[in-house]
Amino acid sequence: MIDMVGFDSLPPDFEIVTGEGVGQAPAALGGEVEMVPCPNCKKDIQVGVKACPHCNTQMDWE
Ligand SMILES: [Zn+2]
Repeated sequence: MIDMVGFDSLPPDFEIVTGEGVGQAPAALGGEVEMVPCPNCKKDIQVGVKACPHCNTQMDWE
């Protein structure tokens, strides 16, 4: 069996890795994706897409 260890028993140099700030975009990992309404058809589209998949409006992300 695996013993449950508390954080107090971890070595001082132990770092908790959250997965953020490791140089990879969360969206590329299939994680949470930010959605915004399309300015034309108002349906949710993924931030960064070149065109709306619903109405094919070309997106111009800042
Ligand atoms: Zn659209």
